[in-house]
Amino acid sequence: MSENRKMPKSLYAKSANELLGAVGLDKSFQGKQLYKWLNTGVVDFKEMTNLPKTIREFLSSAMGSPLSSKVIEVQEDGSDATKLAIELFDGKIIEAVILSDDNGRSTACLSSQVGCAMGCAFCRTGTMGLVRNLFDYEIVEQFIHILQLAPHTTHIVFMGMGEPLANREHVCKAIEHLHHPEGLNISLRRMTMSTCGLVPGILALAELNIPVRLAVSLTTADENQRDLLMPINRRYGLDELKKISHPLPEHHEKEIYFRIRYAE
Ligand code: SF4
Repeated sequence: MSENRKMPKSLYAKSANELLGAVGLDKSFQGKQLYKWLNTGVVDFKEMTNLPKTIREFLSSAMGSPLSSKVIEVQEDGSDATKLAIELFDGKIIEAVILSDDNGRSTACLSSQVGCAMGCAFCRTGTMGLVRNLFDYEIVEQFIHILQLAPHTTHIVFMGMGEPLANREHVCKAIEHLHHPEGLNISLRRMTMSTCGLVPGILALAELNIPVRLAVSLTTADENQRDLLMPINRRYGLDELKKISHPLPEHHEKEIYFRIRYAE
């Protein structure tokens, strides 16, 4: 370990081996220990008690926190949703939401982009345009922030800011890390990706064979009205969506469902 080492922005979305190299640890078991702490939601190096004190102190002084982002506001409005405003390393703000149900189950609603290029007429994020894609670690970090408030969160929906299939590479990498059995170990069957109907993205996801659930948000079943509300419909209309729901691999064919939310 060297004080002059260039440290990564975040220690998330890294394997135990990648962590070793990223922070310059000598012993492979220490990479595994660090990985375990990070993925049980511990974000204070001082609490990683099975790592030698010198390493904990080095990490604290070199990085401060293993996270590149921070929660700047938590809003509880008395409903079942708790909203977290999260500031990213470049000052951009995104939102993650904890959704709680009557059975005590918590679901993390995560963002995939800052802003969104899809321009749906009813959506505030759509008015921003696309600012940038989130990195895989920024997606995993949203879940880690949520664990601090709702430690028993078991489900994930990609339904926050952005169109997840337009940032497929980083969203899929984040899913890999969120699912890793030695890490956060969230079942793929408990993850849902919500799309406005980006057909090439749906087909590419099917090719990757990642059996998450897929929710296509229709908003309306009227083609003309959908053209007005969701500009994506002018490129990939309802017929196209219907057509591609058939040749998908078996697990997707079963799991695709179309969500109709009518605009107010
Ligand atoms: S795809 Fe989602 S985030 Fe993007 S504009 Fe439409 S509703 Fe908003």
